[in-house]
Amino acid sequence: MKKVIVIGGGLAGITAAVYLKEKNYEVTLIESSPALGGRTKSFFDSGFNCYLDNGQHILIKGYKNTLELLKKFRAGGNFFYKENFSITFLDKKSNEWQFSISKSVKTVIDFLRLKNLNLSEKISLLKFFMSIKNLKHESLENETALELLERNKQSKNLINNFWKLLIESALNTPIEKTSGQIFLFVLEKMFIEDITNSSLIIPKYSFHESLIVPAEKYLQEKKIKILKACGIEKILIENNMIKGALDKYGNVHFADYYVLAVHPANIQKLINEYKFQLEYQTIINLHIKLSSKKYENKFFAIWDSIIHWVFFHKNHLTVVKSSADNLLKFSNKEIVEIFLNELVLIFPDLSEKLIQIKNDPNNFRLIKEKRATFISELNSLKNRPLISTKFNNLFLAGDYVNTGYPSTIESAVISGRMVADEIDRLSNT
Ligand SMILES: Cc1cc2nc3c(=O)[nH]c(=O)nc-3n(C[C@H](O)[C@H](O)[C@H](O)COP(=O)(O)OP(=O)(O)OC[C@H]3O[C@@H](n4cnc5c(N)ncnc54)[C@H](O)[C@@H]3O)c2cc1C
Repeated sequence: MKKVIVIGGGLAGITAAVYLKEKNYEVTLIESSPALGGRTKSFFDSGFNCYLDNGQHILIKGYKNTLELLKKFRAGGNFFYKENFSITFLDKKSNEWQFSISKSVKTVIDFLRLKNLNLSEKISLLKFFMSIKNLKHESLENETALELLERNKQSKNLINNFWKLLIESALNTPIEKTSGQIFLFVLEKMFIEDITNSSLIIPKYSFHESLIVPAEKYLQEKKIKILKACGIEKILIENNMIKGALDKYGNVHFADYYVLAVHPANIQKLINEYKFQLEYQTIINLHIKLSSKKYENKFFAIWDSIIHWVFFHKNHLTVVKSSADNLLKFSNKEIVEIFLNELVLIFPDLSEKLIQIKNDPNNFRLIKEKRATFISELNSLKNRPLISTKFNNLFLAGDYVNTGYPSTIESAVISGRMVADEIDRLSNT
């Protein structure tokens, strides 16, 4: 039986391990942290008495490869499934409205009911969605999403309050830098290829409990060896082949094939010549210890606010701001204050509770993921590496390799599958 070492226990590494094992390889998964999950990890917070996500994650029905994994891990029941693309918007004037897209003609009526848009904006938004298919055929190579939207008569109000929120949270990229091509690729996948692809899937619990615990159980059942808290410090190279992986305890792990499934920014430490020209953006999550029966399990998109989303969990709520490099100039205390000031206006019914807890830092956990994802800017497609490397027995997996998808869980999972297929193809030729 041929041996494979997978370095990195995020979703790319987990997926590669699963599919390699299915193809009858002896697999060892090596992870530097004490827990699997990578960027989808959660941590138990004794002050909050629950797991808190490193970052709130959302999936969509179009994540076909991820959903297949969920099924394998018997984790499907740990997620809420929306029937179609439906988001509840809130603004700071106590307005609440649904933005929904489905196959039914009700979509048109829903569009006409949208708040904070005048009639001509509602019509231009509807027209834009109806013309996605045709937009694809125009030359987009050098156009940003912002230019594309302006060219298609989306008003400043629509761009700043609707499109900015969707683009920045889906692609974690400032709208003025987002590649028009990637933006349209996502819209096509979600709304043209199969409209049910756009239905949102939300974890019921922390991501750790919803997916990573079932994943680890599955890996153990399948007898995949897992080494946690075992960072690899050096990849040993000899005669243009990988000879072994040296861990932080001085042990060398040997295999026939090696998969590097680490964050692209960590690769250069392991193999000096690999440096990728990718740009990253920050995602900020603020967890607030506050419970509200009224809002439990609900989540909202926020109109005309520095905040993008608010998710309500059992014992806490989570505020999410993507594409957040511009907030890094503020201290943590200032960011908490900026977010709280917005929340008080968005949820006037919670303002008393928010003001009560405001001065005790124990009620807040602020997580700034500075390299949350690479950004989907004009050059990003060109700078994404392939899974194969110049070493015949070394492969790259991760959301950043050239899967065609933006930096998401689905891209990580696809990359893991691609690597498993490629290793198997090579070893059978
Ligand atoms: C805050 C936040 C919110 C996000 N929201 C969403 C979302 O809503 N939907 C979505 O689809 N995507 C989202 N993403 C993106 C998604 O999390 C990533 O695309 C995906 O998890 C990447 O998986 P990966 O396996 O490629 O990399 P990673 O998750 O980074 O995994 C790499 C692993 O390698 C390990 N490692 C690193 N160096 C070594 C070493 N030397 N030895 C051994 N192990 C090592 C790391 O500890 C890590 O576990 C979000 C990301 C963040 C940060």
